[in-house]
Amino acid sequence: MIRGGMRSHNGYLGLRADRVFDGERALTGRPVVLLRDGRIEAIQDGPLAADIPVTDYGRATLLPGLVDAHAHLVFDPCGDVADQCLTDTDETLLTRIRDHARLALHSGVTTLRDLGDRGYLTLRVRDEHAPDLPELVCAGPPLTRERGHCWFLGGESEPGPALSAAVDEHAARGVDVIKVMATGGVITPGWKPHESQYTAEDLREVVVRAHSHGLPVTAHAHGADGIAAALDAGVDGIEHASFLGAGGVVVRDEVIGRLADSRVFVGVASARLPTDKPLSPLFQAVAAAFDRQRQAGVRLVCSSDAGVDPQKPFNCLPHGIVDFRDVIGMDDHGSLAAATSLAAQSCGLGHRKGRLASGYDADVLVVAGDATADVSALRQPLAVYRAGALVT
Ligand SMILES: [Zn+2]
Repeated sequence: MIRGGMRSHNGYLGLRADRVFDGERALTGRPVVLLRDGRIEAIQDGPLAADIPVTDYGRATLLPGLVDAHAHLVFDPCGDVADQCLTDTDETLLTRIRDHARLALHSGVTTLRDLGDRGYLTLRVRDEHAPDLPELVCAGPPLTRERGHCWFLGGESEPGPALSAAVDEHAARGVDVIKVMATGGVITPGWKPHESQYTAEDLREVVVRAHSHGLPVTAHAHGADGIAAALDAGVDGIEHASFLGAGGVVVRDEVIGRLADSRVFVGVASARLPTDKPLSPLFQAVAAAFDRQRQAGVRLVCSSDAGVDPQKPFNCLPHGIVDFRDVIGMDDHGSLAAATSLAAQSCGLGHRKGRLASGYDADVLVVAGDATADVSALRQPLAVYRAGALVT
């Protein structure tokens, strides 16, 4: 349920707390974040007109609503996702999409990019513009090889004319981004994570075609060869970039250097619920690969891949922000930026999402304590505003 919050006759609503993180840095003082008509009107240091109501959250932090740049709303994380996508009705999936999106919003995610649905169903929900859901950015079914990674979503497209035609079809359907499975993955038998499904030339065809439609491309790529091929092809983003090889993680420093130089966004997609179990050696090796990417200056985006397994429900992104600090070694501000301003840029929404600044969408997260000094405050959301309305 949503209510408009207390508003003055002129439609203004002010929010205040001891700390403000604007998506890039902590602001000093206790400025008021002034909302009006779904937008941030101003970050106001000086006095306010007497008739503007201000909600003061006290010992809390105001920050931009989170942006989860990689999730799969059609997946029930507790079941067999292939089976669900092959057998569930559209109505079942649509209900699941809405329920998952709502859960994400309540955890602070006000923008969510879905990187793989079935039948373009997330676009249908996107176009409903429901005020009690995050803003959705949608890829539709990912392009993949016959029986390749996540083939059950319906995006099988063999190299050649079929691949270009698939991009055209996605554009005609109204997707916001093209997702292509450059390598195999973890959740589908067949191509393994280190095995490339497409050549650099195939991927280049996808990129040229997508860009001709004005669409960005993000490539799922685990293995170093697939990452390099995606870079050769000129993609806008890479998902995972885990450097998984045949027998474990095989980092190639020249590829990391190219990732950094290219300024391509790398979606880490690693958020998960906290667990008491010690990290597996493989997980530690992947984390070390991201630590090296961080040190090289790769633009690492904190995202979830929510839906793919039980540790990844749709409210897990805040825990991923904490892991960015504790596992990948990012500082607190960098970890927050990775799920706000940088994540918004990676989704092509850097001009209106991911920052608390004048003219930006009034998507605001309030958490208890000082998140600018300790990001684990993200685990305690106090309030979420979506387009200026308080989500309850
Ligand atoms: Zn995914």
